[in-house]
Amino acid sequence: MQQNSQGMQMGFGTMSVHVGDQLGAYRAVAPPIVQTATFSFESAREFAEAANERRSSRFYTRYGNPNHLQVAQAVAALEGAESGLVLASGMGTVATCALALLSAGDHVIFQRSTYGGTASLVMNLLARLGITATAVAQSDPAAFQSAITDKTRLILLETPSNPLLEITDLRIVTAMAREAGVLTIADNTFATPINSRPLEHGVDLVWHSATKYLAGHSDASAGVVVGSSELLDRVWDTAIITGAVLGPFDAWLLLRGIRTLSLRVARHNSNGLALARAISGHPAVAAVHYPGLAEHPQHALASSQMTGYGGVLSFELIGGYSAADQFINSLHLWRRAASVGSVESLVVHPAAMWVAMLDNDQLAASGVGAGLVRLAAGIEDTEDLVTDVLEALDKVHTTS
Ligand SMILES: *Cc1c(COP(=O)(O)O)cnc(C)c1O
Repeated sequence: MQQNSQGMQMGFGTMSVHVGDQLGAYRAVAPPIVQTATFSFESAREFAEAANERRSSRFYTRYGNPNHLQVAQAVAALEGAESGLVLASGMGTVATCALALLSAGDHVIFQRSTYGGTASLVMNLLARLGITATAVAQSDPAAFQSAITDKTRLILLETPSNPLLEITDLRIVTAMAREAGVLTIADNTFATPINSRPLEHGVDLVWHSATKYLAGHSDASAGVVVGSSELLDRVWDTAIITGAVLGPFDAWLLLRGIRTLSLRVARHNSNGLALARAISGHPAVAAVHYPGLAEHPQHALASSQMTGYGGVLSFELIGGYSAADQFINSLHLWRRAASVGSVESLVVHPAAMWVAMLDNDQLAASGVGAGLVRLAAGIEDTEDLVTDVLEALDKVHTTS
């Protein structure tokens, strides 16, 4: 249960359906798409007022739009945040946050196992701007503590992490950060607010690749960040300069996706767990990474800060690179596509996918092995997905 801005208690299913519910001019039940780049005013005074209003949703669409506002309110409510901002992609969001909060000479801490784009933001773009960084093993809270210096301004968190599903102890790490006056920002893409709400555990800002579970249908790219109004004002000041503006129609698609979020995530969770259990112990498999498995080294921690474990899991094939390739070629229902969190099941071979983004040393440093396969279970019937995966694993096993 969360409390909405009117102080009403609502469950996550109800909130997914009702928050950001604005009938608009036509009393339409589905919100109108305000497909406009700009808004008009009767007088110079009204124009000037709107021009000077921070985060107005009716001045100029790069500054904000009613469709943005509805989605931002919905995600903020689900995450238990005061405020939110939607942008054109997950990367547009995290890059904007970093540029808003950091200056030359600052230091950031990020996780060894993290989304490739986030690692690239830190190691390439921020590095060029004179912002130094330390990568830490996020399963070791003490590593965060020893990485904090008097120049540290921001800690970038991601839990469960991509693609190894490692868990970060949000309570311990945010307590250390707070003590040192360092801000924390968490990528909650994999967990979704249905499974985890990092703000409740002390994180300052939560961001999502809304392209994934929030939109949920592989049909829109979007990003969202939520937190206090004060921090969101700072992010917005930079967002209107970086200009990663989400089109109103994509904002509408995103809200439509969010309406079924809690139903979809329940199915993603049960499919993820069933697959992880089915794959564990298969003779072609060296290791399975899924925080919902009792044998996951951080299962107890995961259970203490999550209410479900999501649809993403990864596993290492004994046969390495060629086995991973053969496994994916043998699947029938799973599409080889970069993304997670959609209604259809997707599979990737990270070592093959990130070759372009990270060099070999960076890949090895992030802990990705050549035979690692990442599964993102959709919402299909569990038995169909499990059967397809087990048959492909059998094929890999018998030919190796
Ligand atoms: C996809 C993804 C991103 C990047 O989001 P885009 O919307 O593609 O820019 C960031 N973090 C995680 C965990 C992701 O899966």
